[in-house]
Amino acid sequence: MDPKWNGQFSCFDRVARTDVCSRTVVRVRDIEIGGGDFVVMAGPCAVESEAQILQTAEAVAGSGARILRGGAYKPRSSPYAFQGLGVEGLKLLRKAREETGLAIVTEVMSEEDVEVIAEYADIMQVGTRSMENFSLLEELGECGRPVLLKRGMTATIEELMRSAQVLADAGNADIILCERGIRTFETATRNTLDIAAVPVLKTVSHLPVIVDPSHAAGVRSLVPALARAATVVGSDGLLVEVHPCPEQALSDGNQSLSFREFRRMMLDLQPYLDLQQRTRNARPQLLATRGAD
Ligand code: PEP
Ligand code: MN
Repeated sequence: MDPKWNGQFSCFDRVARTDVCSRTVVRVRDIEIGGGDFVVMAGPCAVESEAQILQTAEAVAGSGARILRGGAYKPRSSPYAFQGLGVEGLKLLRKAREETGLAIVTEVMSEEDVEVIAEYADIMQVGTRSMENFSLLEELGECGRPVLLKRGMTATIEELMRSAQVLADAGNADIILCERGIRTFETATRNTLDIAAVPVLKTVSHLPVIVDPSHAAGVRSLVPALARAATVVGSDGLLVEVHPCPEQALSDGNQSLSFREFRRMMLDLQPYLDLQQRTRNARPQLLATRGAD
């Protein structure tokens, strides 16, 4: 590790990368996150109805997603906005898993909900507003499910690493880090995607890192470009919002892709993923050629 970063992050000894430790691969059913596959998690911001979640699950699975996202407990900026279906939403997610085989990632906001959500979810999502909710992180330590830890919208990389350390200290080392954009002075996008955070995190931590281009962009037309950027900088996957009819979504419709747009995005990503793969495979060969000169 670069000596600058070593000094800054080595104190987070459970999640910091060292010369000797191997990378963490988070296993969810038959899916490996951080093991070389590019894993796409997709679905609506919030579970709204049976038809909505089942149709979305079918569509995203058909386009190559491996994990279905969907909030049943929603942290909303306004108290008047849709707050989610709660346990009813969890049951619909389970039904979608039974019908499509997709694993489920869904958000947990409060330590009181950990037990019930862990019954239904394959991955527990900690949202940007909860990254420093240490009592929630401690409760997740023993939940028996991997945690998708989103970066706080005003958190530094160091603070994200600190929260990961708290989770690992509490007994849960199955952590996936997620860059979802941070607050800056820029207002043209909802957040600013800190794309450099991906290679920094991959350098200073052994944990898998994914990117959420939807909450970073806030507008659907930017999502495919940010997703491509994520592949190029070495992200282990994506978390993307998709809705059968984004204009009618109860939350985050502006940044949600339609089924067709999601399919197109996935097709367009392929050459970038192939390039990443070739770059990885080519590296030893290039060195060997140089060595022979
Ligand atoms: C979400 O994934 O729908 C969400 C609320 O994300 P964030 O916590 O990043 O805002
Ligand atoms: Mn959302």
